[in-house]
Amino acid sequence: MLIGLAYGRQCRVVVLDSCDIVQEVTSKHGTKPTASAALGRSLSAGLLLASSLKCEEKYTIRLSGNGPIQEIVVDATAKGTVRGYVSHPQVHLSPKPNGKLDVSGAIGTQGLLTVVKHTENDLNFTGQTPFISGEIAEDFTHYLVTSEQIPSAMGLGVLVHPDESILEAGGFLVQALPGVQESTLETLEKHLPHVPTMTQLLKDDHDLLSLAQKITGDAHFEPLESRHVRFQCTCSLKRTEETLMLLGQKELELMIAEQHGADVHCNFCNAHYTFNETDLKKLIQELNRHLA
Ligand SMILES: [Zn+2]
Repeated sequence: MLIGLAYGRQCRVVVLDSCDIVQEVTSKHGTKPTASAALGRSLSAGLLLASSLKCEEKYTIRLSGNGPIQEIVVDATAKGTVRGYVSHPQVHLSPKPNGKLDVSGAIGTQGLLTVVKHTENDLNFTGQTPFISGEIAEDFTHYLVTSEQIPSAMGLGVLVHPDESILEAGGFLVQALPGVQESTLETLEKHLPHVPTMTQLLKDDHDLLSLAQKITGDAHFEPLESRHVRFQCTCSLKRTEETLMLLGQKELELMIAEQHGADVHCNFCNAHYTFNETDLKKLIQELNRHLA
C-alpha cells in the first residue's frame, strides 16, 4: 500500500495491491467467485479506510444487504492488518452483461454500511449510511462524503480466474485535504471518470507509484509512506480458552455432560478450536484456581 499526496499536497492518495490478502482470505473461506469479489472489495476498502488511523485504532465494517450474501464483516487496523468474512461464501451469480462479477446482485442494492471506529481509549464511534449501488466502492465513497464529510473517490477491483483463484485485487482512495482549491477538485472530477478500472490498472502495471500518478493525473505525486499490509486474525487457542472460561463453571459442566466437549469456530479465519472433556475439566480447575 502506498500513501502519498497529490496536487501540491491538496489531496491524500492511497493505492493498494491486495491480491495476496484477498487470495488468502477467500481460500480460507472457500468463497465462490461472486462472493470472492464482494469480500475482496470489502477487504480492500477496509485497508484503504484504516490507512488514516493511528497506532492501536481499528475499524469494524459491516455491509448488510438484501442480496443472497446477506452480510460482509471486515476488521482493519492502523497497522495494516485485515480480516473478514461473508455470511454465505457459496454465492455465485451469472456475470453482468459487461462481463463483470455481479457484486451488487450478491450483496444487494439496498442495505446499510456501518463503520465502527475503535479508538485507543476503547471508545467506539459509529457511522452508518445506506447503500448507493451495492457495488461497494460507491457505497464507501458515499459514506466518506456524507458521514465524514470528506470529498472522496474510491475505486475497488477483484479479478477472479475461471479456476476461482484471485488474479488481481486492489483499490485506491483519493481524498481532498482541508484548504483544497476548487480548481483542483474540478480537475479531479474531470480526470477520475476516465481512469481505467482498478483491475485494468493492475493488469497493466503493479508499480504503485506509477498507478498513483495514473489515478490522480498528477505526474508530481509525492509518495510519503509505503506500508506493508497483510491478513491477520486475532483469534488464538489462549483467547478461546479465556472466552470459554468467561461462560462460567455451570455452562462448562453442561458442555461436558451434553456434548462431551466444545468446538469453537472463528468466523473471521475459519479456524476450529476443539476441546474434549479433559480440556474442559482443566478449564474448570483453572477457573476455580482464579476464584480461590
Ligand atoms: Zn480467527
